[in-house]
Amino acid sequence: VYNFSAGPAVLPLSVLERAREELLCMPGVGASILEISHRSKAFLEIIETAEANLRKLLGISDDYAVLFLQGGSRLQFSMVPMNLLGADQSADYMVTGSWGKKALEEAAKVGKTRKVYDAKETNYDRLPEPFCADGGTMDLDPQAAYLHYTSNETIQGVQFSAEPETQGVPLVCDASSEFLYKPLDIDKYGLIYACAQKNAGPAGVTIVVVRKDLAERADPNLGVYLNFNTHIASGSMDNTPPTFAIYINKLVTDWLLSEVGGLEAMHSRNAEKAKLLYDVLDQNAEFYQGHARPDCRSLMNVTFRLPSDELTTKFDAEAKQNGMTDLKGHRSVGGIRASIYNAMPLAGVETLRDFMVDFAKKNG
Ligand code: PLP
Repeated sequence: VYNFSAGPAVLPLSVLERAREELLCMPGVGASILEISHRSKAFLEIIETAEANLRKLLGISDDYAVLFLQGGSRLQFSMVPMNLLGADQSADYMVTGSWGKKALEEAAKVGKTRKVYDAKETNYDRLPEPFCADGGTMDLDPQAAYLHYTSNETIQGVQFSAEPETQGVPLVCDASSEFLYKPLDIDKYGLIYACAQKNAGPAGVTIVVVRKDLAERADPNLGVYLNFNTHIASGSMDNTPPTFAIYINKLVTDWLLSEVGGLEAMHSRNAEKAKLLYDVLDQNAEFYQGHARPDCRSLMNVTFRLPSDELTTKFDAEAKQNGMTDLKGHRSVGGIRASIYNAMPLAGVETLRDFMVDFAKKNG
């Protein structure tokens, strides 16, 4: 089936095939990845290659640490303010959807925060200007400890096409549902984090890229696991890291480098796939109503509604019969959400496109 789940999501077929081949016995190791010590030479090579691949794909310099952590992006909602938000400081948060809202709620438990943007009134269908015409403005504090934003809101399907301007304030990004979908200018970020289970591997590992000088702000009395500097100093090996998830991340980044040809190529593929679906929305506007405003549509999560709940249920059921699963939208948005991450093949999106055109014709 073609699985349009928002996450955990599809993995590239060649990655799954290689993992299957190696699961019982890794070549040259004589054991499964699931059985070897995280201190073994074989695993050290895996984690070092995973980090090197990420550095190569994203152009990450030595000024930044690349960490492989547990606890999901949810833990980062707390860990980021614990490390970067001093007692005499305040942090700015943009709320462009459900995840940004949750990130702010957690940070507010740790320290002083300001909400600099909130699109709640229009059910998070837009981003601030200049990303979205009439999107409203942000009210930034030039003294803020950092500005946090969610580059792709997984539930609403709104996505930034570039980084927001910060007037010199360190930029912190929750990139969970878009990480590795296109190249980034890492130097614009103070910290970027992403759970792996959309574009970067299976659930269980969260990747954090953090500017080392920013991490030095952390209070040394923080719990050991909660302090970024613990993981920087130990190469993400202070405790047992999620070895299998890191191994799959290495295979995914190998795939991006050698089969896809890098993140520019990945971005073109993603733009091409998303356009197929958005064209259907635009050409059948009396039947399908897109949730995100056209200028901030996500290339990862395509959200839209049908004329009635009955038709939505019928769409989901008939899609399932035709081999397309997990299309039901989140209850806060309703309708349909098609998540088309990196590993969703073009053929999967074409199948959905054809189904959508046909469904509108028969039911419109
Ligand atoms: N942030 C975004 C944008 C997400 O899409 C998700 C999960 O879907 C999360 C945070 C939470 O991630 P986790 O479940 O790994 O804590």
